[in-house]
Amino acid sequence: MSLRLDDKVALVTGAGSGIGEAIAKRFAEEGALVFVTDLNAESAGRVADEITAAGGRAEARTQDVTDQTVWISVIEEIVAGHGALDILVNNAGIVIPATVEEATLADWRTTQAVNGESVFLGTQSAIAVMRERGGAIINISSIEGIIGEPQTAAYNYSKGGVRIFTKSAALLCGQKGYPIRINSVHPGFIMTPLVEGGVAAMAESDAQEFMARVTAGIPMGGMGEPRDIANGCLFLASDESKYMTGSELVIDGGYTCH
Ligand code: NAP
Repeated sequence: MSLRLDDKVALVTGAGSGIGEAIAKRFAEEGALVFVTDLNAESAGRVADEITAAGGRAEARTQDVTDQTVWISVIEEIVAGHGALDILVNNAGIVIPATVEEATLADWRTTQAVNGESVFLGTQSAIAVMRERGGAIINISSIEGIIGEPQTAAYNYSKGGVRIFTKSAALLCGQKGYPIRINSVHPGFIMTPLVEGGVAAMAESDAQEFMARVTAGIPMGGMGEPRDIANGCLFLASDESKYMTGSELVIDGGYTCH
């Protein structure tokens, strides 16, 4: 029986937790060899071990996505060892909650580096090795790359950048005739350590207001699961989406309908 990602080599960043972990596991279930990378070596190793134990193929690597040198060496190693990189998911991300009045320049810059510059570095490095043979790049933005949220000004800015950068890079690949598709994914509220940590970092009254507003605003009645996002990424990674590039896939239980 053929699987949807048979013979594909994939790299998923921030894959030691939450959505990235779900994407890595879903890709492996569909036959991909998955490079599970994360800042946290232990969590990347755990996810790769769990994939292997379940009969899939995975390798763990420590990767800080803000470091260009590491991007180059990780991708060089993958191509040298396996002949190609077919799929890149730029998933790693952070949120440091603060309004535009409260945000510090240091936190602002950290957010842009982890959520924004990393997507540029990853996309640039991947195009360099995909332009002959082709590939799929998936950039994890957010619904907050489309709509505003007063409590997360820096995060809004970074995710809006990921959304429009994806279109710029997709257009370039089209113009140059590279068989590379680049799309963005916009999760709504998904219960992961990022959301739990973000809420915990808010003042109690802000956290209560945020949670009440979010839950009330989700037409499907509650937060999503990491696998809901992983399934969308699987579609964009596979040949089933062969006519899609520069598009934005919103998976949010209907949150952005109003
Ligand atoms: P998560 O559970 O916190 O996972 C993020 C992972 O990225 C963690 O393993 C984290 O490692 C890693 N990471 C952080 N900084 C890194 C760096 N510089 N280099 C490499 N890895 C790094 O968060 P998540 O909710 O799964 O989020 C995944 C992506 O989905 C993010 O881009 C996020 O913005 C986006 N998203 C999430 C939601 C949601 O509701 N959860 C909604 C919209 C978009 P450590 O644990 O060591 O910090």
